[in-house]
Amino acid sequence: MIDDLKLIRPGEVRVRVAPSPTGPLHIGVTRTALFNYLFAKKYQGSFILRIEDTDVERSKKEWEEDVIEGLKWLGIEWQEGPDIGGQYGPYRQSGRGEIYQKYIQKLLDEKKIYYCFCSKEELEAHRNYQMSIGEPPRYSGKCRDLSPKDLKKNLDAKKSFVLRFKTPFRKVGFLDMLRGKIEVETDAFGDMTVAKDLTTPLYNLACIIDDFEMKITHVIRGEDHIPNTPKQILLAEALGIEPPKYLHLPLILGLNKAKLSKRHEARSVLEYKEEGYLPEAIVNFLALLGWNPGTPREIFSMNSLIQEFSIEGLQSGGAMLNPQKLTWINAFYIRQKSPEKLTELCLPYLIESGLVEPFFGQEKYPPAYGGELITQQFKIKETAEEISFNFLKKVVGLYQERLRKLSEIVELTDFFFKKELAYPKELLKWQEYSCKEIKETLDRLKKILARPKPIEWIKENLERILMSEAEKIGDRGKLLWPLRVALTGKKASAGPFEIAEILGKEKTLARIKEARKKL
Ligand code: GLU
Repeated sequence: MIDDLKLIRPGEVRVRVAPSPTGPLHIGVTRTALFNYLFAKKYQGSFILRIEDTDVERSKKEWEEDVIEGLKWLGIEWQEGPDIGGQYGPYRQSGRGEIYQKYIQKLLDEKKIYYCFCSKEELEAHRNYQMSIGEPPRYSGKCRDLSPKDLKKNLDAKKSFVLRFKTPFRKVGFLDMLRGKIEVETDAFGDMTVAKDLTTPLYNLACIIDDFEMKITHVIRGEDHIPNTPKQILLAEALGIEPPKYLHLPLILGLNKAKLSKRHEARSVLEYKEEGYLPEAIVNFLALLGWNPGTPREIFSMNSLIQEFSIEGLQSGGAMLNPQKLTWINAFYIRQKSPEKLTELCLPYLIESGLVEPFFGQEKYPPAYGGELITQQFKIKETAEEISFNFLKKVVGLYQERLRKLSEIVELTDFFFKKELAYPKELLKWQEYSCKEIKETLDRLKKILARPKPIEWIKENLERILMSEAEKIGDRGKLLWPLRVALTGKKASAGPFEIAEILGKEKTLARIKEARKKL
């Protein structure tokens, strides 16, 4: 089983992820893609993207785009796929009809599949009957041995049909690389439908043909596919082709091992992106869903995953999805960013929220700059005040340690971009002090800070001056709390000195004045 891995020669591994574009790229498929990608990388093999769009009604182009965009964003790159082609294309099942036809015809010629003309109603009635007598529902076999005459009559009459597989009743098994031997009796399958017509196989047949045609060596997919694997192996045997090796990843479960909530199950990876998760955090998080690195280490970049990932570290028990862990990992990667990079990442959120606008004034940036749009300059939307990238960098930098998701930047820093702050005057009050006392504190603050004596308006100076004042009062909070609230309008924020430095003298004083007016 796992010993087989030792026999793998570099370069010979070919794996794939085969999403059906009937919904967004969710966490489950993404993890499958990641593990296949890592496995391919480990053995210098190829990772392939195949779009399984045989379900024409439910497949949509927009979901395929979601899959492609999401995987690219995460840095999970394929060497062959619908967008880039490859030696074994097309990579969309909808374009492979001719290939399938060859195989379906062979199965028909060898009488391994047969036309079934039973109507929906007939099948339904039989199903209900079987259930009523406590038998597993499976096809009755009515059309298995249609005479050539009846067959021709039905075909001539253009009766609708499907193609069914003559399931041999016996045991079928395979060696799962993670779980060992898995064996089932085929009688529960009945004569399964394998194709809608001569060019349109259903999932199991299309999948085994494609895996063979695309020279897939290992199929790594979710545990939910375990019931399909014996069917695919039976079909491979019928076609006389070699099936790949199989490994079924553990289910992803919600907290307390409960079924994964709809919210997480159906959510597109791109929604995580919108919310401000970083691709490196998602990759890191997904890698730990079912893979145990064998050490307490929890932080793995894509590069270190490529080095460290191993099939031996996979677990078969359900993997619990803990959103708090994702947030923790995300915060870690946010802290690793350079201030420039983090500001760039946060900018779309500040712009989207309507707080900040990019400034593209041509008169500011004449052709001397090549007439290019220089986006280093921004405006506060509400006041049209110009601000620089550097200013934004300071604002974002102030919250780098606290930020858990990029989107949080808006709520944390909005006060830097607002003309007036709306907060209840009670927020200014510190402990048991009266309004009058807080008013006096604010007056005092104003007086000290407005002093004409020139000081460089930097946090160290502000801290020195204001802390010595706070010491004089004897209760630091009495000075620092109203100051911080006056500057931010918030219960919690970064420290007042840093904030005052970024706001500048004029705004700091104006905000203290505003606060004073409230009381
Ligand atoms: N198209 C299948 C799905 O989206 C995947 C099939 C496979 O990996 O074999 O679940």
